[in-house]
Amino acid sequence: MFPYPSGNLHMGHVRNYTITDVIARLKRMQGYRVLHPMGWDAFGLPAENAAIERGVPPAKWTDQNIAQMKRQLQQLGLSIDWEREVATCSPEYYRWTQWLFLQFFESGLAYQKEAAVNWDPIDQTVLANEQVDSEGKSWRSGAKVERKLLRQWFLKITDYAEQLLTDLDKLTGWPERVKTMQANWIGKSVGAYLEFPLVNSTEKIPVFTTRPDTVYGVTYVVLAPEHPLTLQVTTPEQKSAVETFIQEIASESELERTAEDKPKRGIKTGGLAINPFTGEEIPILIADYVLYEYGTGAVMGVPAHDSRDFKFAQENNLPIKIVITPESGEIELKEAYTEAGIMINSAQFNGLNSQEGKTAIIDYATAQCYGKARIQYRLRDWLISRQRYWGCPIPVIHCPHCGTVPVPIDNLPVTLPENVEFSGRGASPLAKLEDWVNVDCPRCGTPAKRETDTMDTFIDSSWYFLRYTDAKNEDIPFQFEKVNDWMPVDQYVGGIEHAILHLLYSRFFTKVLRDRGLVNVDEPFNRLLTQGMVQGLTYKNPETGKYVPAENVIYKEDKYCDKDTGEVLSFFFEKMSKSKYNGVDPLKVLEKYGADTARMFILFTAPPEKDLQWDDAGVEGQFRFLNRVWRLVSEYIENKPKQVKKIETFSKTDKDLRRAIHTAIKEISEDLEGDYQFNTAISELMKLSNALGDNKCFESPIYREGIETLLILLSLFAPHLSEELWQALGHSQSIHLQPWPKVDPTALIVDEITLVIQILGKTRGTIQVPASADKSTLETLALESEITQRYLEGKEIKKVIVVPGKLVNFVVG
Ligand SMILES: [Zn+2]
Repeated sequence: MFPYPSGNLHMGHVRNYTITDVIARLKRMQGYRVLHPMGWDAFGLPAENAAIERGVPPAKWTDQNIAQMKRQLQQLGLSIDWEREVATCSPEYYRWTQWLFLQFFESGLAYQKEAAVNWDPIDQTVLANEQVDSEGKSWRSGAKVERKLLRQWFLKITDYAEQLLTDLDKLTGWPERVKTMQANWIGKSVGAYLEFPLVNSTEKIPVFTTRPDTVYGVTYVVLAPEHPLTLQVTTPEQKSAVETFIQEIASESELERTAEDKPKRGIKTGGLAINPFTGEEIPILIADYVLYEYGTGAVMGVPAHDSRDFKFAQENNLPIKIVITPESGEIELKEAYTEAGIMINSAQFNGLNSQEGKTAIIDYATAQCYGKARIQYRLRDWLISRQRYWGCPIPVIHCPHCGTVPVPIDNLPVTLPENVEFSGRGASPLAKLEDWVNVDCPRCGTPAKRETDTMDTFIDSSWYFLRYTDAKNEDIPFQFEKVNDWMPVDQYVGGIEHAILHLLYSRFFTKVLRDRGLVNVDEPFNRLLTQGMVQGLTYKNPETGKYVPAENVIYKEDKYCDKDTGEVLSFFFEKMSKSKYNGVDPLKVLEKYGADTARMFILFTAPPEKDLQWDDAGVEGQFRFLNRVWRLVSEYIENKPKQVKKIETFSKTDKDLRRAIHTAIKEISEDLEGDYQFNTAISELMKLSNALGDNKCFESPIYREGIETLLILLSLFAPHLSEELWQALGHSQSIHLQPWPKVDPTALIVDEITLVIQILGKTRGTIQVPASADKSTLETLALESEITQRYLEGKEIKKVIVVPGKLVNFVVG
């Protein structure tokens, strides 16, 4: 996953891109063609904030950050193909984002409708969600943010809800957790669509329910405050109270309205609907927890069998009617009975179980023309309009005669104007630029206006991986042959925070582009690795809740204390962040130890999907290991023979070394297959380096094989040091162009083992014996050995115990 160019590399980036780098290097050495690209997710709010606060134009600020972060990434020694670098904010890139938007538009998958935005009444501007604080106030003016309806652009992701759900089964290389999160987000529910007619009117209130078997227990109906029927159903007596209520709700965010722990607020409209099954008249209410954007914007209230309805009915004095009972016995209504059961108080449906009841009720409602079976998804269409400057302009023109007209493809990109003033107040900066906004309609020539909304940055990141395959193409976003040669991405690596939106949107884009004949894959990412967080040691004052920087902490009497106040601090590991003073600057680590140590530490300390705790001692440990390798190879270079001799038969040392070398190749190859266990792979490297340190037979060609294999295996993790030593060995070609070493299975065969000799259960020594020796041979060899002869002299053997492969024990009298 490409980064946002904040300007500063953090440990999360180091971890993410070190992981992909090791995989890229491994696959290339194994003979694959490897595409390991990098780009910048470069549009977004921070650049605009920098413009408001410091007066730096967003493009300039972003370009500087990209240049700085690129230098920092390059210091890590990543095998990235910088020829394919993309930045989503460059016109060469967003030209094609606009082109792709028009593909959606042509397919009927991009449309406009009214939707709520966060409105700052003081600055008279639309706020992004991240500009609204937890109390629902503007970051800038501090005003209580209101909800306001604006005409906005949407992408019709709901058309693909079913495919996005079922195709999760194809993603066998994805973590289950991520697939579950996506499935929940799509939220498929199977149930019924039922209509409740209004009393004295032809209008009906449609609702969706997953529990049609409880329909005889409906005692009221609730509308969302924004529902178009609210004012129509309200009686004159209730009118002013209802209007006040709706106004109050208007300023609440969706999150506030639906929070679990909050009391459910509602108001009676005075209006009545009819339960079509019972013919009973039931009250109509308005409540904050019902959202107009979700489902039909109305729900039926079944307090006896739904926990939220139960609470709401109690708070609003509404009747509760039991219509489902457990198979064994009765229920006492202290809380809602939400399980399945047997239908009661339900006329001709009495006695059916919930499952049968659901079908029977739907069939009946269908026959009576007031309902039908329906599948509903929690997923809503993707609101992509942003009333901001630093994003990809939506390439349409609004003409008084022709309506919404796409900008002709030849006129793309619609570029962002420069020299814009940023105040953070009033209309979006683009809407204020008359010269930019006013254009002639491309269809009829009448004076018309450009769309001033820009796109959600998640659009930019929904297709960048496709552009990598043909990054320089000036005629089309990517060539069909090239994109399909590389796609799908074999290994995608990024944080779990993108488990839902980015990955879902990328999957949606891929499916739409497939249906437009632009790509030929169903899914963009074959395998997904979600790397864990990098956590830093954090000190906190438990009394005040304040975080304390490490330099203000002293260690006293087994406790960490605040240097200034002496107060005892609590300490724990938490995700690195500025506000917690627990961050470690990668550049400082690179400066002190070099990139190779940083990479080794990051990979060695935890498996990639687990959280990693930063530990200075661990960094030192890796630094020492690399120094040992340096000395080992340097010592060999100083002492290596002028000419490497050929050997006819292997000595015992040769055999041991060969076994160590090929065990390392085998184990590391296995560790890096599948789950990428970098940490155990590095442990194997340490074992091989120890074996070479213990058997310094510089004359032997096996020793040289060992030194070279160590460096080649190490080159994935420590590319700089291994390359330098490789050259010092006299090689003219880069170590990174070497093939991955192959395991020689004959080297792994153990032909001698160590046999322990015991007399009366006490170990007296060991001897070397052939690994293939059988029980009686082992006994003979043990008996003939010098150790046994010495200890057994003159004694009578009563019994011999042989444990093959391990020991021989003599019981003597
Ligand atoms: Zn026109």
